[in-house]
Amino acid sequence: MKQVRTLLLLCFAVLGAVALLVTRSDAKPETVRLVAPGVWFREGDLLEQGHCNNIFIEMKDYLIVVDANFPSGARAALADARRISPKPVKYVFDTHHHGDHLYGNLLWTQAGATTLAFQAVAEELKRFEPARWLAAAKTRKDVAELNQPGPEPPKQNINEQQFVLNDGSRKVEFRHFGWAHTKGDGFVYIPKEQVLCTGDAVVNGPYNSTADAHIGNWPTVLQSADKLKVKFVLPGHGSPAGRELIAGQAQFMTELHKAVKTGVDQGKKLEDLQAGTQLPAAVSTWVSERSLKTQIKDAFEEISQGKPRGDLPH
Ligand SMILES: [Zn+2]
Repeated sequence: MKQVRTLLLLCFAVLGAVALLVTRSDAKPETVRLVAPGVWFREGDLLEQGHCNNIFIEMKDYLIVVDANFPSGARAALADARRISPKPVKYVFDTHHHGDHLYGNLLWTQAGATTLAFQAVAEELKRFEPARWLAAAKTRKDVAELNQPGPEPPKQNINEQQFVLNDGSRKVEFRHFGWAHTKGDGFVYIPKEQVLCTGDAVVNGPYNSTADAHIGNWPTVLQSADKLKVKFVLPGHGSPAGRELIAGQAQFMTELHKAVKTGVDQGKKLEDLQAGTQLPAAVSTWVSERSLKTQIKDAFEEISQGKPRGDLPH
């Protein structure tokens, strides 16, 4: 009986802590909200700290965290994970190779977690690192302070298109649908709660980076993701949304590609396309003047050179 009471008290303490962290549905950087039972969304502060979003998934004996974040984001997310659950973080899944999603790997492995990602993430790290890490260390204290020669690659590589963790309490699927935002793009799908964590293959706002992308293939990847039964989309940047976010993001990439392709076919110059391209109002969520110029340039190079932007020199 005494044990039951202690357990109950503990449950209430945990619930209380969770209630404090749960917020309304508007943008609240660096806060945690409950999305479904045992699934929490942590919105990263992108503008000031460059953080990505994190997701915490509760299993029977442990937590899965989606994305390692930058080192400062990893520290903050780890502290939040400890607040929401006494269970240890066993797995941290890197949705792709970018620093804001992966440079915190070392902190998670030091805390006892195993980092994992699809195989192409390790390949892209070999291509781009440690150059990007060293550049980031010049402007980011959290990266410089780790005093490492480069980022720690994921400890475990997934060689298939799908990897499943199922401990009887919950099934979590790690899915690769092809090259969109990056070659190694990974999604995390929780079938029972119909939650899809997308990394940067889907963002909610003008946060699309196309530098390592395959813009022409991006909508195809999202069509595959959209075949899943999805109620909640938890993007790599920006607020959570419903399943319509997937089609919206796909439409943005389709419109971007179409507009640039039409221009290239007409022999237009990049500068003219950057000055004169207007995408339909339906995709305005993903458009900002500055990022659109860069996205047009990336699409222009991809289309005129006939190779995914990510395969072209950087
Ligand atoms: Zn990214």
